[in-house]
Amino acid sequence: MEILHSINDFNEAKQVIPGGVNSPVRAFGSVGGTPRFIARGKGAYIYDEDGNAYIDFVQSWGPLIFGHADAFIESALNLAIKDGLSFGAPTEKETTLVKQIMALSHHATEKMRLVNSGTEATMSALRLARAYSGKDDIIKFDGCYHGHSDSLLVSAGSGCATFGTPSSPGVPKDISKHTLVARYNDIDSVRACFETSKNVACVIIEALAGNMGFVPADKTFMHNLRTLCDEYGALLIIDEVMSGFRAGVQGAIGLYEVEADLVTYGKVIGGGMPLAAFGGRADIMDMLSPLGGVYQAGTLSGNPIAVSAGIATLSQIKAKAHLYEQLESLAKRLTQGLQSAAKDCQIPLQVDYRGSMFGFFFNEDVVKNFDDAKKSDTNMFARFHQKMLERGVYFACSQFETGFICAPMDEAMIDEVIAKAAQAFIEITHE
Ligand SMILES: *Cc1c(COP(=O)(O)O)cnc(C)c1O
Repeated sequence: MEILHSINDFNEAKQVIPGGVNSPVRAFGSVGGTPRFIARGKGAYIYDEDGNAYIDFVQSWGPLIFGHADAFIESALNLAIKDGLSFGAPTEKETTLVKQIMALSHHATEKMRLVNSGTEATMSALRLARAYSGKDDIIKFDGCYHGHSDSLLVSAGSGCATFGTPSSPGVPKDISKHTLVARYNDIDSVRACFETSKNVACVIIEALAGNMGFVPADKTFMHNLRTLCDEYGALLIIDEVMSGFRAGVQGAIGLYEVEADLVTYGKVIGGGMPLAAFGGRADIMDMLSPLGGVYQAGTLSGNPIAVSAGIATLSQIKAKAHLYEQLESLAKRLTQGLQSAAKDCQIPLQVDYRGSMFGFFFNEDVVKNFDDAKKSDTNMFARFHQKMLERGVYFACSQFETGFICAPMDEAMIDEVIAKAAQAFIEITHE
């Protein structure tokens, strides 16, 4: 496979953009090799600057549930662009989108605000939870990612259930000391956090963790978490930035049948444009400025072009009754196919899926938390990733990410990927 253009583009980018990329995972750091510079995408496929085609299981890290350059979204955008790109004044479309999100996702969200990124959504939800409760501390889970705001760039310190330490230079300890880090799927570690701090405003969680690889929470764990939050007077924030309209039309909240006080969305609701949202009970949300004193704002928040892409995406989701069943059957077919191809080569592979999300770990044991995930064979993952890339299959370039099925994929494409994976596993075992 010729990738000369990507190599040149990457070298040039590195001169002026740190690491050559505008988001670090894109640099292929954990798998090695050269990141492909993408020229265009159509449906399930992306095409790099050398003209190589790849079936794409990244889909812009989740947003593109209808694949690349979807005709319906494209025509909605073409119409919207003619009327101007941004006004910094309210538009009808914003209310339409918020009502659409709340009507489809069904849970107790009464009010919602639109922002530009998942990072902003979770950061704003935390501020609101702190204001509402009058408390400063928060609990997050090791391995869950909620964007890159200071309070959330915190990892477990000396052990779980302790106050965290900054996971990035530049995050002041004075901020990270307000974040306690618990172990995913371990309710005792959450209780221990509540006992360590009597000042917990909220717990934030990905109910379907997608940023340590794909690790679903146990249902009883989620219900116990809800109970524990109520017991200690803390709000529960469910971060659906990835799982919202991905795991199912009602997201993780629908699958677990557990209620959040605040919920965050992103990725799919923007259909590929920068758009995210946070919402929840009216008594909490009405604390936001201008009704209340909690400040939160954005020059481009609720941008009409992004909102139009969101409306077009959610309208299609609403119109396609069996969308998630179809996506899930492909996710199941793919993961089971990968697992059995790996098994034929005595390679242990743990797989899981919910709706259009899937994951696989090169791991002997079932993965329940970040400690388990870290025991995966990342070297094996890197080799597999490279071999699949060479065969025109674009999986996320890290063991600790989630894969995404999009609507234009079909069984034949999945079977082709499984056949290529089987070849890759055979090569790996003979090296
Ligand atoms: C992607 C993601 C975010 C961050 O969203 P950005 O738009 O990248 O800022 C937050 N939470 C979860 C669960 C995510 O997957």
